[in-house]
Amino acid sequence: MSIPFNRPYLVGRELHNIAQAHADGHLSGDGMFTRRCHAWLEQRIGARRALLTHSCTGALEMAAILLGLRPGDEVIMPSFTFVSTANAFVLRGAVPVFVDIRPDTLNIDETLIESAITPRTRAICVVHYAGVACEMDAIMDIAARHGLEVVEDAAQAIFSSYKGRALGGIGDLAALSFHETKNVIAGEGGALLVNDPALVERAEIIREKGTNRSKFFRGEVDKYTWVDLGSSYLPSELVAAFLAAQLEQGDDITARRLAIWQRYHAWAEPLEAQGVLRRPVIPAACTHNAHMYYILLNDSAQRDAFIARMKAAGIGTVFHYVPLHSSPAGRRYARAHGSMRHTDRVSDCLVRLPLWIGLEDHQDHVMQVAGGILADHGVFGAWSQSGCGNAADGTEGW
Ligand SMILES: *Cc1c(COP(=O)(O)O)cnc(C)c1O
Repeated sequence: MSIPFNRPYLVGRELHNIAQAHADGHLSGDGMFTRRCHAWLEQRIGARRALLTHSCTGALEMAAILLGLRPGDEVIMPSFTFVSTANAFVLRGAVPVFVDIRPDTLNIDETLIESAITPRTRAICVVHYAGVACEMDAIMDIAARHGLEVVEDAAQAIFSSYKGRALGGIGDLAALSFHETKNVIAGEGGALLVNDPALVERAEIIREKGTNRSKFFRGEVDKYTWVDLGSSYLPSELVAAFLAAQLEQGDDITARRLAIWQRYHAWAEPLEAQGVLRRPVIPAACTHNAHMYYILLNDSAQRDAFIARMKAAGIGTVFHYVPLHSSPAGRRYARAHGSMRHTDRVSDCLVRLPLWIGLEDHQDHVMQVAGGILADHGVFGAWSQSGCGNAADGTEGW
């Protein structure tokens, strides 16, 4: 039996919606289904304005344009993230400044942000890793005191919350992803959430090739023309039709993923007690969307051996991420502020287990195989029997 790391889930109405978009005769962007997605996101997340994009990457690029970044401006962010978080700002000539992550949530360490601020700092871009919120109260407070904008890379975080507030609705701007590896999918897709009302009109213009087309369609101007920077960031109605079906089943998707997540979490508890691995930490102020289940092994040799043995057993698992500060482009376009020791260690030790709707039928098998591999004490958990000790070579335990 072969179990993939990911399998895209269909709620059932996607193809029906696509047929309806075709029957209605509107396949380019901003038709009825796009409006339905916008209204749904605005209501559900509390964003002032939601705008579908062709990807989260595109939404982050729009955010970087909206911030009016100039060459040499700095944006503080974690290094432990996907390339688009940094690339979007580098495209404007800005410099990502990386700070280390917290070892518990693997999110940006908010206590390190202030010391990374310079006269060139313009924004903080946070990433809610695995759909678990960053410490947004502290981060918004730092931003307010220093006059910085906050962008949430909420690619993984739809349906998660922080102190009762939906992620994506807290920063000045936020970006969602509907890539097929995320919880709610459209193949490729994303959304920019504009929470600062002063940025709404310009966001519409940037998304529509730098024209005031949105105003024209609302009858607010009698012709449309080129008024600002922009590109084509909007998806077609085919994508929006697919996405509308998924969004409307979002609560069901989240509940089913959470059930799988909880089973992994219960399975991993005794392994954590034995020091074989460390489980995800969910702070009390956060609800999460079960975007991923990861485990942290004790070093990269264990992690690589685990992935290889799972693969040999026909089960797909993956690591995350090559830290951006040590990647070729990261070294060229960005800089690290201070030690990256948690980033480096997590990226050495983290492995994601399969988590997709339909896995329910195979999850016992995955846990049984993984448990069998981790029971090889010659390889796994050898040094850390107490669960939190330090290895003889001085390596920290989890
Ligand atoms: C998936 C992801 C992205 C990119 O999303 P796309 O829709 O593929 O562009 C950006 N940031 C993070 C943190 C992600 O997980």
